[in-house]
Amino acid sequence: MKIFLATGNAKKIKEIEKILHDFDVEILSIKDGIEIPEVVEDGETFEENSAKKALEIAKYLNMPSIADDSGLCVDALRGDPGVYSARYSGENATDETNNEKLIKDLYGIGNRKAKFVSVITFARPNGEIYSFRGEIEGKIIDEPRGKDGFGYDPYFYVEEYKSTLAEIPEIKNKISHRAKALEKFRQNFQDIMKKW
Ligand code: IMP
Repeated sequence: MKIFLATGNAKKIKEIEKILHDFDVEILSIKDGIEIPEVVEDGETFEENSAKKALEIAKYLNMPSIADDSGLCVDALRGDPGVYSARYSGENATDETNNEKLIKDLYGIGNRKAKFVSVITFARPNGEIYSFRGEIEGKIIDEPRGKDGFGYDPYFYVEEYKSTLAEIPEIKNKISHRAKALEKFRQNFQDIMKKW
């Protein structure tokens, strides 16, 4: 079976492909030359945005699709940037400007607890959806560490590994919010297929 990976984020595609490398389906993405429209992410939850992305693209391509909606939730910022993680520093946000704003907003704050959340949704063109949530806890540090990963990874420190996610790409793909959500999807895949 072919499943389309509904994201324009090349680094997410790379991560998801690696996590699902032994999955018994053919994963297609924009890397295969398939063009997809941009989906407006106007939901208030990761679940809403993830379902919207997966469903719109599944219908557009007439192909089962999976989407990831993810973000960083910081305790001291009452869960922000949350669903606004990609555009935390404004319309033309980049990873650099987002991280700059994050560190500025946390200046002088002792509580650095944070988590990444990922909601993976599998959608069929007929409108059926299945969503799975994964989370990883950590804390935000002031100086970046590591060269891998993307987004807030160089500032997201995981106590168990005494490293940021940008320093441990192989381990990240086993313990991350996205890996956990995709693992739930994998575990439910046979059941989902029975309802095909
Ligand atoms: P989305 O494409 O709307 O899901 O935006 C997700 C945003 O959250 C990204 O642009 C990153 O800023 C952040 N994010 C999500 N997952 C990760 C991750 O694994 N590492 C670092 N940042 C992430």
